[in-house]
Amino acid sequence: MNRASFDGSYGAYGGRYVSETLVFALDELTRAVSEILLRDAFQAELDQLLSTYVGRPTPLTEATRLARALDPSGASLGRLFLKREDLCHTGAHKINNAIGQVLLAKKMGKTRIIAETGAGQHGVATATACALFGLPCHVYMGEEDVARQAPNVGRMKLLGAEVISVRSGSRTLKDAMNEALRDWVTNVATTHYCIGSAAGPHPYPELVARLQSVIGVEAREQILERTGALPDAAIACVGGGSNAIGLFRGFLTAKSVRLFGVEAAGDGVDTPRHAAPLTAGRVGVLHGSKSYLLCDDEGQILEAHSISAGLDYPGVGPEHAHLKDTGRARYLAATDAEALAACKTIAQTEGIIPALETAHALARIYDAAAEVSQAVGRPATVVVGFSGRGDKDLATLLAHLVTPEAGRA
Ligand SMILES: *Cc1c(COP(=O)(O)O)cnc(C)c1O
Repeated sequence: MNRASFDGSYGAYGGRYVSETLVFALDELTRAVSEILLRDAFQAELDQLLSTYVGRPTPLTEATRLARALDPSGASLGRLFLKREDLCHTGAHKINNAIGQVLLAKKMGKTRIIAETGAGQHGVATATACALFGLPCHVYMGEEDVARQAPNVGRMKLLGAEVISVRSGSRTLKDAMNEALRDWVTNVATTHYCIGSAAGPHPYPELVARLQSVIGVEAREQILERTGALPDAAIACVGGGSNAIGLFRGFLTAKSVRLFGVEAAGDGVDTPRHAAPLTAGRVGVLHGSKSYLLCDDEGQILEAHSISAGLDYPGVGPEHAHLKDTGRARYLAATDAEALAACKTIAQTEGIIPALETAHALARIYDAAAEVSQAVGRPATVVVGFSGRGDKDLATLLAHLVTPEAGRA
């Protein structure tokens, strides 16, 4: 978007499939990105908040015991580094985007923020940013999710946000997003819609990728300092795709760094219960943008399934669709069971409990390293986007991993 001509297409994907009423708002936001967000003064203010409030730069942790647990011989996986977004305020990378968008909205003169949320993580991040900047916050959430994610509903309310329970459709994330778009159409003059991932109509995928690119920029600097070289591979989980694109942006132009995204395979990509549109979906339009998605033969959007609420979305950001088609990034998938097993392995080798989303990336580290080491002829150095911590998933983890008889996992 430093190019004035950038129209939001990533190859054949992206764009802006919206009603005419939203075009004005999206144009206004596109202008704000180039005229406010990209200015040095804004970046300096944002950097200050990221360092004094969010806790950036996040550490790059070498995971030696995990590396040896995944590959005892060390023949495929050499050194393994974790980019620790779990140590951000609110426990995941989502705050990078929320703080940036709400600060931008404030500079644009907007007086009200709306957001959609599935698991509640983006809702909590947005409510946090709104409390920090003193703006009212309205979060749309499917009725089903409100019931499933009670702790995050409580957090949002405590932070002063209003949570609006959505009763349409499947009463989950995609319906919440539709409802938020409807609100935006009505209140566009005063309201900024804070989208939670690198998806949606132009300029959102680019705006969110830029705000998350701090992950990759830091990781690149840190790994150069630690190893004297770029990594052989970078790998991250993909829901809407924001933490992955944020990490990838640090390495996209360095062709020697192979990029891997990991989608949620749920019960398996050959079953109807998964959330892997890049692996097993088709091309279509969802939430204002063209990309891969899960739909039936009539084009009806299908319900996604993943044990991790943050990956449970039937679409994916358009830049990932383009990176897949061009082969610049490879997309793999991990099942619910594989993610759960990966949680236990890293908890017991490194003393870090990951978010279930993050665990999907962890589950495919060895496969990515094996593929890359084959190509480069030596053990691979890998950087993992460690998108979030597992506190929010404790109930799920305990239900699946701790057997009552043994009393321990
Ligand atoms: C929301 C979330 C994700 C998935 O979102 P992306 O936009 O694909 O990054 C991944 N990890 C964690 C911890 C999350 O909270």
